Amino acid sequence: MLILVTNDDGIHSPGIKVLARRLGELGEVVVAAPDRERSAVGHSLTLHSPLRAEEIRPGFFSIDGTPTDCVNLGIHGLLDRRPDLVVSGINKGGNLGDDITYSGTVSAAMEATLMGVPAFAISLAGDDYAAEDFACAAAFALDLATRVVDLGLPSDTLLNVNVPPGKPLGSRLTRQGKRIYGDVVVEKFDPRGRKYYWIGGGELGFENLPGTDFHAIHENFISITPLHLDLTNYRSFEGLASWGLDAMGDFHSQSSD
Ligand code: MN
Repeated sequence: MLILVTNDDGIHSPGIKVLARRLGELGEVVVAAPDRERSAVGHSLTLHSPLRAEEIRPGFFSIDGTPTDCVNLGIHGLLDRRPDLVVSGINKGGNLGDDITYSGTVSAAMEATLMGVPAFAISLAGDDYAAEDFACAAAFALDLATRVVDLGLPSDTLLNVNVPPGKPLGSRLTRQGKRIYGDVVVEKFDPRGRKYYWIGGGELGFENLPGTDFHAIHENFISITPLHLDLTNYRSFEGLASWGLDAMGDFHSQSSD
């Protein structure tokens, strides 16, 4: 059993250390993670500069790239065999609802899924990250990893796990919820009088609908959302049928002058 562990908070984050240690009970663990925090880099892949991987201690590779780079390089370059599982986390902060489109943590699991390796992402919701909260999330990760390995995930599917702080009441299989963004950009001036901006300073809300990841966390349950990479909105086909989108772009019958 070989497990590749990564994150987007960086290799020195407490979440990845406790996760790697706990998953070590299931098999051999290799860590390939960014050398610094790379939260919210999404599914970014480095194509225009070289990547360096430094083995800072046995089985711990610090990489000057994104979480996606780490999974890609880990599987294709650093590991001597294909991993049985990729686990990304434990992230400091939830990855819920629409936020997952920005998430480096979730994107790392997506990359593994694209490469045909079972994967899940795990994040600690809330904003104070007590050691016992990481320990609780790591214990759940071990339990889930065992199931994933024993039962096998459905094809093209990754799991996005969020753990509430404190003592969770249990776990729920959820769907992706919806964020209500604050739409705030903070505008200030630097010491030389030049304007700068800071995105995301506002209060974030969410639609508290039963069955969603947000709702589960709000009710103090661990949320497990199965995700796939097919972003097609099948429900929109009917509404778009009348647009004639199937019959556009007939450039051959147009005269060119
Ligand atoms: Mn992060």
